[in-house]
Amino acid sequence: MTTIEKLYVPFVDFKRRYALYRDEILSAVDEVFSSGTYILGEPVEQLEKQLSYYLNTPYVLGVANGADALMLGLKVLNIGSGDEVIVPVNSFIASAGAVVAAGATPIFCDVCDDLNIDVNQIENHITKKTKAIMPVHLTGRPADMNAIMQIAQKHNLFVIEDAAQSIGAKYHEKMTGAIGDIGCFSLHPLKNLHAYGDAGIITAKNKAHYDQLKLLRNHGLLDRDHCAVWGYNSRIDAVQAKLVSLGLTHLDEWNDKRRKNAMRYQQALKNIVKVPQEINDIFSVYHNFVIQTKQRNALVAHLQENGIDTRVHYPIPLHQQPAAKIWEYQAGDFPVAEKLALEMLSLPIYPELSDEHAEYVIRNIKEFYEA
Ligand SMILES: *Cc1c(COP(=O)(O)O)cnc(C)c1O
Repeated sequence: MTTIEKLYVPFVDFKRRYALYRDEILSAVDEVFSSGTYILGEPVEQLEKQLSYYLNTPYVLGVANGADALMLGLKVLNIGSGDEVIVPVNSFIASAGAVVAAGATPIFCDVCDDLNIDVNQIENHITKKTKAIMPVHLTGRPADMNAIMQIAQKHNLFVIEDAAQSIGAKYHEKMTGAIGDIGCFSLHPLKNLHAYGDAGIITAKNKAHYDQLKLLRNHGLLDRDHCAVWGYNSRIDAVQAKLVSLGLTHLDEWNDKRRKNAMRYQQALKNIVKVPQEINDIFSVYHNFVIQTKQRNALVAHLQENGIDTRVHYPIPLHQQPAAKIWEYQAGDFPVAEKLALEMLSLPIYPELSDEHAEYVIRNIKEFYEA
């Protein structure tokens, strides 16, 4: 066996990223701090305009985080107590948590091998109480939106896209997060477009929803002294908005680098493990690159031993979370998600990943399967 010089490959590398952009970040921070505006204001309006252009959608608002965007999206559609929302069972906890925060009940739906909601099963979960479908574009791969929009239209349901992982991803030339009634993005530091703290974005198709969301994110205030509706504090900081605007100038380049890393992994690993497939008319932005293998846990240990950090997105399907016990789901209710939970593994894919590090990951995976 050839010995490989040991490297350390973190799962993400925020410090390296900061070092690359430090000068422009610090000067943007200085500009905002010197302006004396710290919450909402001009930098937020700028970001909203830029994202409206980027996403090709009329109404965009900055909010405090991605989970709030989902919750506010449900609220503005009047979804709450007694209502049901269909949510894929393999997602980040916030997809379901936001439904609960709005006072409604998430109804889980199994996913496909591509990790996104199984559109053939959605109708099985529709009841008289169903108000919306919440597709998640997991890993930055668009869910099957044509099928979802058709089902929603047929049953008179809203569609709220959880696009937290998919900014820049396209579904048949449409930007994810700008297809359904409401689109929600997280700008958490881990996401493809990110703040340096918490922040989020909500899009709306409809002007009335936009006007209402603008109130809801800021205590329901029409102006300093008049409250039109009972709202929330879900504002975005001016400095975060400014830094996200800066990031937006790099986003396509970052997404291209993620895609380039993904193609490299796909080519090198396709005969060894299951890798995500590229599909016509689907532009994925690889927030995560998830392989599938029966030897997942042994592979994790091997990679860890060799200095490579990996993650599982997500090791516990939503219906098996302790917090979900109240709904009395059973093991076996969502066989695909339950199988994926044991076999999925996310490899480092961030834009700053060097060729040397990507090749090192590949060599170590090959070595594991050759042994
Ligand atoms: C990150 C994420 C969220 C929540 O975003 P926050 O900004 O952390 O609140 C919601 N859904 C998905 C799929 C996510 O990945």
